[in-house]
Amino acid sequence: EHLANQIAAGEVVERPASVLKELIENAVDAGAKTIDVTAEEGGLGLIRIADDGAGIQPDDLLTAFQRHATSKIVTGKDLFQIATLGFRGEALPSIAAVAKVRCVSAADGDGLGRVLEMEGGAVKKHEDAASPQGTDMSVRELFYNTPARLKYMRTIQTELSHLSDVVYRQALARPDIAFAFAHNGTTLLRTPGNGDLRQVVAAIYGTAAAKAMLPIQAEHPDYTLSGLTAMPVETRANRNGITILVNGRYVRSAAVVQPLLQAYHTLLPINRYPLSVLSLRMHPSLLDVNVHPAKLEVRFSKETELRAFVEDAVRRTLGERAY
Ligand code: ADP
Ligand code: MG
Repeated sequence: EHLANQIAAGEVVERPASVLKELIENAVDAGAKTIDVTAEEGGLGLIRIADDGAGIQPDDLLTAFQRHATSKIVTGKDLFQIATLGFRGEALPSIAAVAKVRCVSAADGDGLGRVLEMEGGAVKKHEDAASPQGTDMSVRELFYNTPARLKYMRTIQTELSHLSDVVYRQALARPDIAFAFAHNGTTLLRTPGNGDLRQVVAAIYGTAAAKAMLPIQAEHPDYTLSGLTAMPVETRANRNGITILVNGRYVRSAAVVQPLLQAYHTLLPINRYPLSVLSLRMHPSLLDVNVHPAKLEVRFSKETELRAFVEDAVRRTLGERAY
């Protein structure tokens, strides 16, 4: 069990940002309306995430840290059939195997919760504790017991940029959740949680960038597309400013990015990228998913059709302004 957790940790926990991704997904799954993230030293010192979601019942807290105790499904394809982001039930045990974790959680508003502390997979403390409804999870000294892994970590600045990326994508995917992110005492992001995507874009990329975006909205028998896309396009934008969401999940997909860029191509110098948040919805049967814990790569069964749809939708959105 111990060893299995450490092996799984090697898969799930590549770097601080992978820990943060798993913990934010858990908070989202718990129905949180507010998610506060604090990190120190690029997440290697501390990753703390407090949410006001459903919380964990005291009797379930230890189980949540046991491997596969909560596994919901087995194959990647099912991933888009289920409503929750988490599905493997191995994030918490994997994280607890390679860090010092403290989790305080309560499932009711009566203040009666429980605290669990673990170090390198071993339980250090497990007792009743006062807690507001929700979950407060601290992960300290990541990789303290796996020096080989620790050695591979980059500079604090690099790890921080990966952490920011995780928070940004989740905030863009869920404008209805208020996210806050602070690193070494400095607040880097605060979103209002009022459902307005443009305000999330403003919080991440600045007000000017957010103002210079057009709403995009298109329907197709198989797909719907919505979001915001830049016009005019700033020169400093790069590929990283493109966020693709499929059924609410952040994915990487050339099948969406390429037609997006193609639509801009007649307007833009070839090496310029628009700031863009595109959210696609479709039946899960039209998706083929190759799941890696750290990133989600997705293929579409009717890719040619989808490409044409995306390109046309973006073209028409830009056309209303540009031609
Ligand atoms: P998974 O998300 O795949 O189910 P995890 O290891 O990430 O597996 O989490 C295990 C379980 O712990 C979850 O299924 C959930 O029941 C519970 N849990 C974890 N984090 C939270 C949270 N922030 N709020 C409520 N429940 C949580
Ligand atoms: Mg999870």
